[in-house]
Amino acid sequence: MTKMDEKLEAIMAEVMRRNTGEEEFIQAVREVLESLGRVVAKRPDYTDDALIERICEPERQIIFRVPWVDDRGHVCINRGFRVQFNSALGPYKGGLRFHPSVNLGIVKFLGFEQTFKNALTGLPIGGGKGGSDFNPRGRSDGEIMRFCQSFMTELSRHLGEYTDVPAGDIGVGGREIGYMFGQYKRLMNRYEAAVLTGKGLVYGGSRARKEATGYGAAYFVEAMLATRGTSFDGKSCVVSGSGNVAIYTMEKIRANGGRTIACSDSNGYVVDERGIDLDLVKELKEVRRERISVYAEEKGAGVRYISGGSIWDVPCDVAMPSATQNELTGKDARRLVENGVLAVGEGANMPSTPEAVRVFQEAGVLFAPGKAANAGGVATSALEMQQNASRDSWTFEQTEQRLASIMRHIHDTCAATAEEFGAPGNYVLGANIAGFVRVAEAMRALGVI
Ligand code: NDP
Repeated sequence: MTKMDEKLEAIMAEVMRRNTGEEEFIQAVREVLESLGRVVAKRPDYTDDALIERICEPERQIIFRVPWVDDRGHVCINRGFRVQFNSALGPYKGGLRFHPSVNLGIVKFLGFEQTFKNALTGLPIGGGKGGSDFNPRGRSDGEIMRFCQSFMTELSRHLGEYTDVPAGDIGVGGREIGYMFGQYKRLMNRYEAAVLTGKGLVYGGSRARKEATGYGAAYFVEAMLATRGTSFDGKSCVVSGSGNVAIYTMEKIRANGGRTIACSDSNGYVVDERGIDLDLVKELKEVRRERISVYAEEKGAGVRYISGGSIWDVPCDVAMPSATQNELTGKDARRLVENGVLAVGEGANMPSTPEAVRVFQEAGVLFAPGKAANAGGVATSALEMQQNASRDSWTFEQTEQRLASIMRHIHDTCAATAEEFGAPGNYVLGANIAGFVRVAEAMRALGVI
Protein backbone atom coordinates (compact mmCIF):
# COMPACT_ATOMS: atom_id res chain seq x y z
CA MET A 1 0.00 0.00 0.00
CA THR A 2 1.30 3.48 -0.88
CA LYS A 3 1.89 5.81 2.08
CA MET A 4 -0.84 8.41 2.45
CA ASP A 5 -0.88 11.94 3.81
CA GLU A 6 -2.03 11.97 7.47
CA LYS A 7 -5.28 13.84 6.85
CA LEU A 8 -6.11 11.57 3.92
CA GLU A 9 -5.29 8.54 6.07
CA ALA A 10 -7.88 9.71 8.62
CA ILE A 11 -10.47 10.21 5.87
CA MET A 12 -9.72 6.72 4.55
CA ALA A 13 -10.15 5.21 8.02
CA GLU A 14 -13.55 6.88 8.33
CA VAL A 15 -14.61 5.66 4.85
CA MET A 16 -13.67 2.12 5.90
CA ARG A 17 -15.62 2.44 9.14
CA ARG A 18 -18.76 3.76 7.45
CA ASN A 19 -18.73 1.31 4.55
CA THR A 20 -17.76 -1.94 6.22
CA GLY A 21 -17.64 -4.91 3.88
CA GLU A 22 -17.94 -2.83 0.70
CA GLU A 23 -14.57 -3.99 -0.61
CA GLU A 24 -14.77 -2.65 -4.15
CA PHE A 25 -15.91 0.76 -2.95
CA ILE A 26 -13.11 0.94 -0.38
CA GLN A 27 -10.59 -0.13 -3.05
CA ALA A 28 -11.76 2.61 -5.43
CA VAL A 29 -11.65 5.32 -2.75
CA ARG A 30 -8.21 4.21 -1.58
CA GLU A 31 -6.81 4.45 -5.10
CA VAL A 32 -8.03 8.03 -5.48
CA LEU A 33 -6.93 9.16 -2.00
CA GLU A 34 -3.47 7.67 -2.57
CA SER A 35 -3.15 10.01 -5.55
CA LEU A 36 -4.26 13.12 -3.68
CA GLY A 37 -1.30 13.53 -1.33
CA ARG A 38 0.54 15.66 -3.87
CA VAL A 39 -2.52 17.87 -4.40
CA VAL A 40 -3.24 18.59 -0.76
CA ALA A 41 0.46 19.30 -0.19
CA LYS A 42 0.18 22.12 -2.75
CA ARG A 43 -3.40 23.10 -1.94
CA PRO A 44 -4.14 22.34 1.74
CA ASP A 45 -7.40 24.29 1.37
CA TYR A 46 -8.85 21.28 -0.46
CA THR A 47 -9.17 19.58 2.92
CA ASP A 48 -11.31 22.46 4.29
CA ASP A 49 -15.07 22.12 4.84
CA ALA A 50 -14.85 18.32 4.77
CA LEU A 51 -14.64 18.61 0.98
CA ILE A 52 -12.95 15.24 0.45
CA GLU A 53 -15.22 13.54 3.00
CA ARG A 54 -18.22 14.89 1.08
CA ILE A 55 -16.80 13.62 -2.23
CA CYS A 56 -16.57 10.13 -0.69
CA GLU A 57 -20.19 10.13 0.47
CA PRO A 58 -22.92 9.58 -2.17
CA GLU A 59 -25.55 12.33 -2.32
CA ARG A 60 -28.34 9.75 -2.40
CA GLN A 61 -28.62 5.93 -2.38
CA ILE A 62 -31.83 4.29 -3.53
CA ILE A 63 -32.59 0.58 -3.02
CA PHE A 64 -35.87 -0.91 -4.15
CA ARG A 65 -37.81 -4.13 -4.72
CA VAL A 66 -38.29 -5.33 -8.30
CA PRO A 67 -41.10 -7.90 -8.55
CA TRP A 68 -41.77 -9.55 -11.92
CA VAL A 69 -43.39 -12.68 -13.34
CA ASP A 70 -41.36 -15.29 -15.26
CA ASP A 71 -42.59 -17.34 -18.22
CA ARG A 72 -43.87 -20.10 -15.94
CA GLY A 73 -46.02 -17.67 -14.01
CA HIS A 74 -43.74 -17.59 -10.93
CA VAL A 75 -43.26 -14.32 -9.12
CA CYS A 76 -39.56 -13.39 -8.87
CA ILE A 77 -38.00 -10.72 -6.70
CA ASN A 78 -34.81 -8.81 -7.42
CA ARG A 79 -33.17 -5.83 -5.80
CA GLY A 80 -32.74 -2.57 -7.70
CA PHE A 81 -30.16 0.15 -6.95
CA ARG A 82 -29.40 3.69 -8.00
CA VAL A 83 -26.58 5.58 -6.33
CA GLN A 84 -26.69 9.28 -7.18
CA PHE A 85 -23.13 10.03 -6.25
CA ASN A 86 -22.27 13.59 -7.16
CA SER A 87 -24.13 16.29 -9.08
CA ALA A 88 -21.70 19.21 -8.76
CA LEU A 89 -20.96 19.24 -12.48
CA GLY A 90 -24.35 18.25 -13.91
CA PRO A 91 -27.16 15.71 -13.66
CA TYR A 92 -26.12 12.28 -12.35
CA LYS A 93 -24.92 10.20 -15.27
CA GLY A 94 -23.80 6.58 -15.37
CA GLY A 95 -24.91 3.14 -16.47
CA LEU A 96 -27.18 0.40 -15.14
CA ARG A 97 -25.71 -3.07 -14.60
CA PHE A 98 -27.78 -6.28 -14.53
CA HIS A 99 -25.63 -9.09 -13.11
CA PRO A 100 -26.09 -11.46 -10.14
CA SER A 101 -22.98 -9.99 -8.46
CA VAL A 102 -24.50 -6.50 -8.17
CA ASN A 103 -24.77 -5.16 -4.63
CA LEU A 104 -24.63 -1.74 -2.99
CA GLY A 105 -20.81 -1.77 -2.61
CA ILE A 106 -20.29 -2.47 -6.31
CA VAL A 107 -22.75 0.21 -7.37
CA LYS A 108 -21.06 2.71 -5.03
CA PHE A 109 -17.59 1.91 -6.39
CA LEU A 110 -18.88 2.38 -9.94
CA GLY A 111 -20.64 5.65 -9.03
CA PHE A 112 -17.53 7.01 -7.31
CA GLU A 113 -15.33 6.19 -10.33
CA GLN A 114 -17.96 7.62 -12.65
CA THR A 115 -17.84 11.00 -10.90
CA PHE A 116 -14.16 11.53 -11.75
CA LYS A 117 -14.46 9.94 -15.19
CA ASN A 118 -17.27 12.29 -16.11
CA ALA A 119 -15.27 15.25 -14.82
CA LEU A 120 -12.36 14.22 -17.05
CA THR A 121 -14.53 14.44 -20.17
CA GLY A 122 -14.89 18.19 -19.57
CA LEU A 123 -18.65 17.84 -20.19
CA PRO A 124 -21.42 18.96 -17.79
CA ILE A 125 -22.29 15.60 -16.20
CA GLY A 126 -22.30 14.43 -12.58
CA GLY A 127 -21.71 10.83 -11.47
CA GLY A 128 -24.14 8.01 -10.70
CA LYS A 129 -24.58 4.31 -11.25
CA GLY A 130 -27.25 1.67 -10.74
CA GLY A 131 -28.51 -1.76 -11.61
CA SER A 132 -29.87 -4.96 -10.20
CA ASP A 133 -28.82 -8.44 -9.10
CA PHE A 134 -31.10 -9.75 -11.89
CA ASN A 135 -29.37 -12.36 -14.08
CA PRO A 136 -30.40 -11.89 -17.73
CA ARG A 137 -28.57 -15.06 -18.86
CA GLY A 138 -31.00 -17.59 -20.33
CA ARG A 139 -34.05 -15.33 -19.89
CA SER A 140 -36.57 -15.00 -22.72
CA ASP A 141 -37.28 -11.69 -24.42
CA GLY A 142 -40.62 -11.49 -22.62
CA GLU A 143 -38.96 -11.99 -19.23
CA ILE A 144 -36.35 -9.33 -19.97
CA MET A 145 -39.10 -6.90 -20.98
CA ARG A 146 -41.20 -7.52 -17.88
CA PHE A 147 -38.16 -7.17 -15.64
CA CYS A 148 -37.11 -3.90 -17.33
CA GLN A 149 -40.65 -2.51 -17.03
CA SER A 150 -40.87 -3.33 -13.33
CA PHE A 151 -37.38 -1.94 -12.68
CA MET A 152 -38.25 1.32 -14.46
CA THR A 153 -41.62 1.64 -12.72
CA GLU A 154 -39.78 2.41 -9.48
CA LEU A 155 -36.63 4.01 -10.92
CA SER A 156 -38.62 6.49 -13.06
CA ARG A 157 -39.54 8.68 -10.07
CA HIS A 158 -35.84 9.38 -9.46
CA LEU A 159 -34.86 10.21 -13.06
CA GLY A 160 -35.16 13.19 -15.40
CA GLU A 161 -33.21 15.01 -18.09
CA TYR A 162 -32.00 17.52 -15.48
CA THR A 163 -31.80 15.07 -12.57
CA ASP A 164 -30.39 11.67 -13.45
CA VAL A 165 -29.73 10.09 -16.85
CA PRO A 166 -28.79 6.36 -16.85
CA ALA A 167 -27.27 4.34 -19.70
CA GLY A 168 -26.19 0.69 -20.20
CA ASP A 169 -23.42 -1.35 -18.58
CA ILE A 170 -22.88 -5.11 -18.10
CA GLY A 171 -26.09 -6.95 -19.06
CA VAL A 172 -27.81 -3.79 -20.28
CA GLY A 173 -27.57 -3.11 -24.01
CA GLY A 174 -29.82 -1.63 -26.68
CA ARG A 175 -32.69 -4.06 -26.08
CA GLU A 176 -32.91 -3.32 -22.35
CA ILE A 177 -32.58 0.45 -22.83
CA GLY A 178 -35.47 0.27 -25.34
CA TYR A 179 -37.78 -1.53 -22.89
CA MET A 180 -36.86 0.87 -20.07
CA PHE A 181 -37.34 3.96 -22.22
CA GLY A 182 -40.72 2.63 -23.41
CA GLN A 183 -41.90 2.17 -19.83
CA TYR A 184 -40.60 5.60 -18.75
CA LYS A 185 -42.42 7.27 -21.65
CA ARG A 186 -45.61 5.45 -20.81
CA LEU A 187 -45.48 6.32 -17.11
CA MET A 188 -44.63 9.99 -17.66
CA ASN A 189 -46.78 10.54 -20.75
CA ARG A 190 -43.87 12.61 -22.06
CA TYR A 191 -41.29 11.97 -24.77
CA GLU A 192 -38.29 12.95 -22.70
CA ALA A 193 -35.60 11.49 -24.97
CA ALA A 194 -32.62 12.70 -22.93
CA VAL A 195 -33.63 10.72 -19.82
CA LEU A 196 -31.71 7.64 -20.99
CA THR A 197 -28.75 7.25 -23.34
CA GLY A 198 -27.64 4.31 -25.45
CA LYS A 199 -31.03 4.47 -27.20
CA GLY A 200 -31.68 2.94 -30.61
CA LEU A 201 -31.16 5.22 -33.60
CA VAL A 202 -34.84 5.27 -34.57
CA TYR A 203 -35.96 6.73 -31.26
CA GLY A 204 -33.36 9.33 -30.35
CA GLY A 205 -30.08 7.45 -30.02
CA SER A 206 -26.72 8.73 -31.19
CA ARG A 207 -24.62 7.29 -33.93
CA ALA A 208 -21.33 5.90 -32.57
CA ARG A 209 -22.66 5.48 -29.00
CA LYS A 210 -22.55 1.69 -29.29
CA GLU A 211 -18.96 1.83 -30.51
CA ALA A 212 -17.85 4.70 -28.26
CA THR A 213 -16.39 3.01 -25.18
CA GLY A 214 -14.32 0.50 -27.14
CA TYR A 215 -13.24 2.98 -29.81
CA GLY A 216 -12.40 5.52 -27.14
CA ALA A 217 -10.26 3.04 -25.18
CA ALA A 218 -8.33 2.20 -28.35
CA TYR A 219 -7.84 5.94 -29.08
CA PHE A 220 -6.45 6.41 -25.59
CA VAL A 221 -4.00 3.52 -25.96
CA GLU A 222 -2.98 4.78 -29.41
CA ALA A 223 -2.15 8.16 -27.82
CA MET A 224 -0.10 6.44 -25.08
CA LEU A 225 1.78 4.35 -27.63
CA ALA A 226 2.56 7.52 -29.59
CA THR A 227 4.44 8.89 -26.57
CA ARG A 228 6.90 6.00 -27.17
CA GLY A 229 6.99 6.60 -30.91
CA THR A 230 4.88 3.57 -31.78
CA SER A 231 1.27 2.60 -32.59
CA PHE A 232 -1.14 -0.36 -32.85
CA ASP A 233 0.22 -1.15 -36.29
CA GLY A 234 1.52 -4.74 -36.32
CA LYS A 235 0.88 -5.27 -32.59
CA SER A 236 -0.73 -8.40 -31.19
CA CYS A 237 -3.47 -7.66 -28.65
CA VAL A 238 -5.51 -9.52 -26.07
CA VAL A 239 -8.95 -8.16 -25.12
CA SER A 240 -10.90 -9.80 -22.29
CA GLY A 241 -14.69 -10.04 -22.50
CA SER A 242 -16.75 -10.23 -25.66
CA GLY A 243 -19.47 -7.73 -24.83
CA ASN A 244 -20.04 -4.18 -25.97
CA VAL A 245 -16.72 -2.71 -24.85
CA ALA A 246 -14.59 -5.67 -25.98
CA ILE A 247 -16.17 -5.95 -29.45
CA TYR A 248 -15.66 -2.30 -30.39
CA THR A 249 -12.19 -2.19 -28.85
CA MET A 250 -11.25 -5.07 -31.15
CA GLU A 251 -12.86 -3.30 -34.11
CA LYS A 252 -10.78 -0.14 -33.64
CA ILE A 253 -7.58 -2.12 -32.96
CA ARG A 254 -8.12 -3.84 -36.31
CA ALA A 255 -8.82 -0.53 -38.08
CA ASN A 256 -5.51 0.79 -36.67
CA GLY A 257 -3.50 -2.16 -37.97
CA GLY A 258 -3.38 -4.28 -34.81
CA ARG A 259 -4.46 -7.91 -34.45
CA THR A 260 -6.53 -9.19 -31.53
CA ILE A 261 -5.63 -12.83 -30.93
CA ALA A 262 -7.77 -13.65 -27.89
CA CYS A 263 -11.07 -12.68 -26.26
CA SER A 264 -13.29 -14.28 -23.59
CA ASP A 265 -16.51 -14.53 -21.63
CA SER A 266 -17.06 -15.63 -18.06
CA ASN A 267 -16.69 -19.33 -19.00
CA GLY A 268 -13.37 -19.27 -20.89
CA TYR A 269 -11.32 -17.74 -23.68
CA VAL A 270 -10.53 -18.34 -27.33
CA VAL A 271 -7.17 -17.89 -29.05
CA ASP A 272 -7.16 -17.30 -32.81
CA GLU A 273 -3.66 -16.38 -33.96
CA ARG A 274 -4.98 -15.28 -37.38
CA GLY A 275 -6.91 -12.53 -35.64
CA ILE A 276 -10.36 -12.80 -34.03
CA ASP A 277 -13.17 -12.91 -36.62
CA LEU A 278 -15.24 -9.98 -35.39
CA ASP A 279 -18.23 -10.63 -37.62
CA LEU A 280 -18.62 -14.01 -35.97
CA VAL A 281 -18.18 -12.62 -32.44
CA LYS A 282 -20.81 -9.95 -33.15
CA GLU A 283 -23.24 -12.51 -34.46
CA LEU A 284 -22.64 -14.86 -31.53
CA LYS A 285 -22.89 -12.18 -28.86
CA GLU A 286 -25.19 -9.49 -30.27
CA VAL A 287 -27.64 -11.69 -32.18
CA ARG A 288 -27.51 -15.34 -31.08
CA ARG A 289 -26.46 -14.61 -27.47
CA GLU A 290 -24.17 -17.66 -27.40
CA ARG A 291 -21.12 -18.55 -25.31
CA ILE A 292 -17.65 -17.74 -26.72
CA SER A 293 -16.87 -21.50 -26.84
CA VAL A 294 -19.16 -21.64 -29.89
CA TYR A 295 -16.60 -19.45 -31.71
CA ALA A 296 -14.05 -22.28 -31.46
CA GLU A 297 -16.64 -24.90 -32.43
CA GLU A 298 -17.61 -22.99 -35.56
CA LYS A 299 -14.10 -21.93 -36.62
CA GLY A 300 -12.62 -25.38 -36.10
CA ALA A 301 -8.90 -26.02 -36.70
CA GLY A 302 -6.47 -23.30 -35.66
CA VAL A 303 -8.62 -21.95 -32.83
CA ARG A 304 -8.13 -22.96 -29.21
CA TYR A 305 -10.81 -22.70 -26.53
CA ILE A 306 -9.63 -22.77 -22.94
CA SER A 307 -12.34 -23.33 -20.38
CA GLY A 308 -11.66 -21.27 -17.22
CA GLY A 309 -7.98 -20.31 -16.92
CA SER A 310 -6.61 -16.83 -17.41
CA ILE A 311 -6.65 -15.05 -20.77
CA TRP A 312 -3.63 -13.07 -19.52
CA ASP A 313 -1.45 -16.16 -20.05
CA VAL A 314 -1.61 -15.37 -23.78
CA PRO A 315 1.53 -13.38 -24.76
CA CYS A 316 0.74 -10.01 -26.38
CA ASP A 317 2.05 -6.48 -26.97
CA VAL A 318 -1.11 -4.74 -25.77
CA ALA A 319 -3.61 -5.99 -23.16
CA MET A 320 -7.07 -4.44 -22.84
CA PRO A 321 -9.11 -5.86 -19.94
CA SER A 322 -12.73 -5.15 -20.93
CA ALA A 323 -14.90 -7.53 -18.88
CA THR A 324 -15.26 -6.67 -15.19
CA GLN A 325 -13.61 -5.44 -11.97
CA ASN A 326 -10.55 -7.19 -10.49
CA GLU A 327 -10.27 -9.62 -13.42
CA LEU A 328 -6.51 -9.01 -13.82
CA THR A 329 -4.52 -9.94 -10.71
CA GLY A 330 -0.93 -9.32 -9.62
CA LYS A 331 -0.02 -12.80 -10.87
CA ASP A 332 -1.60 -12.06 -14.27
CA ALA A 333 0.28 -8.77 -14.44
CA ARG A 334 3.61 -10.46 -13.72
CA ARG A 335 2.90 -13.00 -16.47
CA LEU A 336 2.07 -10.21 -18.95
CA VAL A 337 5.27 -8.37 -18.04
CA GLU A 338 7.36 -11.55 -18.43
CA ASN A 339 5.80 -11.98 -21.86
CA GLY A 340 6.85 -8.44 -22.84
CA VAL A 341 3.60 -6.46 -22.72
CA LEU A 342 4.12 -2.85 -23.77
CA ALA A 343 0.80 -1.22 -22.89
CA VAL A 344 -2.34 -1.97 -20.87
CA GLY A 345 -5.57 -0.05 -21.41
CA GLU A 346 -8.54 -0.64 -19.12
CA GLY A 347 -11.80 -0.83 -21.06
CA ALA A 348 -13.65 -2.14 -18.01
CA ASN A 349 -14.00 -0.33 -14.69
CA MET A 350 -11.17 -1.18 -12.25
CA PRO A 351 -10.32 -4.52 -13.95
CA SER A 352 -6.75 -4.53 -12.58
CA THR A 353 -6.22 -5.17 -8.88
CA PRO A 354 -4.06 -2.60 -7.01
CA GLU A 355 -1.20 -5.13 -7.03
CA ALA A 356 -1.47 -5.55 -10.80
CA VAL A 357 -1.34 -1.77 -11.30
CA ARG A 358 1.80 -1.61 -9.15
CA VAL A 359 3.44 -4.41 -11.16
CA PHE A 360 2.77 -2.60 -14.45
CA GLN A 361 3.99 0.74 -13.15
CA GLU A 362 7.17 -0.70 -11.65
CA ALA A 363 7.93 -2.49 -14.93
CA GLY A 364 7.49 0.75 -16.91
CA VAL A 365 4.48 -0.58 -18.84
CA LEU A 366 2.22 2.14 -20.25
CA PHE A 367 -0.92 1.87 -18.12
CA ALA A 368 -4.26 3.60 -18.80
CA PRO A 369 -6.75 3.45 -15.89
CA GLY A 370 -10.41 2.80 -16.76
CA LYS A 371 -11.69 6.10 -15.50
CA ALA A 372 -9.70 7.81 -18.27
CA ALA A 373 -9.49 5.14 -20.98
CA ASN A 374 -13.16 4.09 -20.99
CA ALA A 375 -14.63 7.59 -20.69
CA GLY A 376 -15.54 7.63 -24.39
CA GLY A 377 -18.85 5.87 -23.69
CA VAL A 378 -20.17 8.40 -21.23
CA ALA A 379 -18.77 11.27 -23.30
CA THR A 380 -20.77 10.09 -26.30
CA SER A 381 -23.80 9.68 -24.04
CA ALA A 382 -23.42 13.37 -23.24
CA LEU A 383 -23.28 14.04 -27.00
CA GLU A 384 -26.51 12.00 -27.32
CA MET A 385 -28.09 14.31 -24.72
CA GLN A 386 -26.92 17.33 -26.75
CA GLN A 387 -28.52 15.93 -29.89
CA ASN A 388 -31.76 15.20 -28.02
CA ALA A 389 -31.83 18.73 -26.56
CA SER A 390 -31.41 20.32 -29.98
CA ARG A 391 -33.71 17.80 -31.74
CA ASP A 392 -30.78 16.98 -33.99
CA SER A 393 -29.03 13.85 -35.24
CA TRP A 394 -25.37 13.99 -36.19
CA THR A 395 -23.56 11.82 -38.72
CA PHE A 396 -21.33 8.95 -37.61
CA GLU A 397 -18.22 10.84 -38.77
CA GLN A 398 -19.18 14.02 -36.90
CA THR A 399 -19.86 12.10 -33.69
CA GLU A 400 -16.73 9.98 -33.94
CA GLN A 401 -14.65 13.08 -34.56
CA ARG A 402 -15.97 14.63 -31.32
CA LEU A 403 -15.23 11.36 -29.51
CA ALA A 404 -11.68 11.25 -30.87
CA SER A 405 -10.99 14.82 -29.84
CA ILE A 406 -12.45 14.26 -26.33
CA MET A 407 -10.24 11.18 -25.88
CA ARG A 408 -7.18 13.10 -27.03
CA HIS A 409 -8.06 15.86 -24.57
CA ILE A 410 -8.42 13.33 -21.71
CA HIS A 411 -5.11 11.70 -22.60
CA ASP A 412 -3.29 15.01 -22.76
CA THR A 413 -4.89 16.28 -19.55
CA CYS A 414 -3.86 13.13 -17.62
CA ALA A 415 -0.33 13.27 -19.04
CA ALA A 416 0.10 17.00 -18.30
CA THR A 417 -1.33 16.66 -14.78
CA ALA A 418 0.99 13.74 -13.98
CA GLU A 419 3.91 15.83 -15.20
CA GLU A 420 2.82 18.89 -13.20
CA PHE A 421 2.63 16.80 -10.02
CA GLY A 422 6.06 15.24 -10.48
CA ALA A 423 5.08 11.81 -11.81
CA PRO A 424 5.52 11.91 -15.60
CA GLY A 425 3.87 8.97 -17.39
CA ASN A 426 1.72 8.06 -14.38
CA TYR A 427 -1.76 8.15 -15.93
CA VAL A 428 -3.38 6.84 -12.73
CA LEU A 429 -2.17 9.84 -10.77
CA GLY A 430 -2.93 12.23 -13.64
CA ALA A 431 -6.52 10.97 -14.05
CA ASN A 432 -7.28 10.96 -10.33
CA ILE A 433 -5.90 14.46 -9.74
CA ALA A 434 -7.40 16.08 -12.86
CA GLY A 435 -10.83 14.53 -12.17
CA PHE A 436 -10.70 15.45 -8.50
CA VAL A 437 -9.71 19.09 -9.07
CA ARG A 438 -12.63 19.71 -11.44
CA VAL A 439 -15.19 18.17 -9.05
CA ALA A 440 -13.62 19.87 -6.02
CA GLU A 441 -13.66 23.34 -7.63
CA ALA A 442 -17.35 23.00 -8.53
CA MET A 443 -18.24 21.73 -5.06
CA ARG A 444 -16.48 24.63 -3.38
CA ALA A 445 -18.28 27.12 -5.58
CA LEU A 446 -21.66 25.59 -4.65
CA GLY A 447 -21.12 25.85 -0.88
CA VAL A 448 -21.71 23.21 1.75
CA ILE A 449 -24.53 21.14 0.27
P1 NDP B 1 -21.39 -6.55 -21.56
O1 NDP B 1 -22.45 -7.12 -20.71
O2 NDP B 1 -21.73 -6.14 -22.95
O3 NDP B 1 -20.15 -7.55 -21.65
C1 NDP B 1 -19.47 -7.98 -20.52
C2 NDP B 1 -18.46 -9.02 -20.91
O4 NDP B 1 -17.65 -9.32 -19.79
C3 NDP B 1 -19.10 -10.34 -21.33
O5 NDP B 1 -18.28 -10.99 -22.25
C4 NDP B 1 -19.15 -11.09 -20.00
O6 NDP B 1 -19.20 -12.51 -20.13
C5 NDP B 1 -17.86 -10.67 -19.37
N1 NDP B 1 -18.01 -10.70 -17.91
C6 NDP B 1 -18.93 -10.06 -17.16
N2 NDP B 1 -18.80 -10.34 -15.86
C7 NDP B 1 -17.77 -11.20 -15.80
C8 NDP B 1 -17.15 -11.88 -14.73
N3 NDP B 1 -17.56 -11.74 -13.46
N4 NDP B 1 -16.08 -12.67 -15.02
C9 NDP B 1 -15.65 -12.82 -16.30
N5 NDP B 1 -16.23 -12.21 -17.36
C10 NDP B 1 -17.27 -11.43 -17.10
O7 NDP B 1 -20.79 -5.31 -20.72
P2 NDP B 1 -19.92 -4.08 -21.25
O8 NDP B 1 -19.04 -4.50 -22.37
O9 NDP B 1 -20.85 -2.94 -21.44
O10 NDP B 1 -19.05 -3.74 -19.97
C11 NDP B 1 -17.76 -4.32 -19.72
C12 NDP B 1 -17.00 -3.46 -18.73
O11 NDP B 1 -16.83 -2.13 -19.27
C13 NDP B 1 -17.64 -3.26 -17.37
O12 NDP B 1 -16.63 -3.13 -16.39
C14 NDP B 1 -18.35 -1.93 -17.52
O13 NDP B 1 -18.57 -1.28 -16.28
C15 NDP B 1 -17.32 -1.18 -18.36
N6 NDP B 1 -17.83 -0.01 -19.08
C16 NDP B 1 -18.86 -0.13 -19.98
C17 NDP B 1 -19.28 0.98 -20.69
C18 NDP B 1 -20.31 0.89 -21.76
O14 NDP B 1 -20.51 1.90 -22.47
N7 NDP B 1 -20.96 -0.24 -21.98
C19 NDP B 1 -18.71 2.32 -20.42
C20 NDP B 1 -17.57 2.31 -19.53
C21 NDP B 1 -17.19 1.18 -18.87
P3 NDP B 1 -20.57 -13.31 -19.85
O15 NDP B 1 -21.44 -13.02 -21.02
O16 NDP B 1 -20.14 -14.71 -19.74
O17 NDP B 1 -21.12 -12.77 -18.57
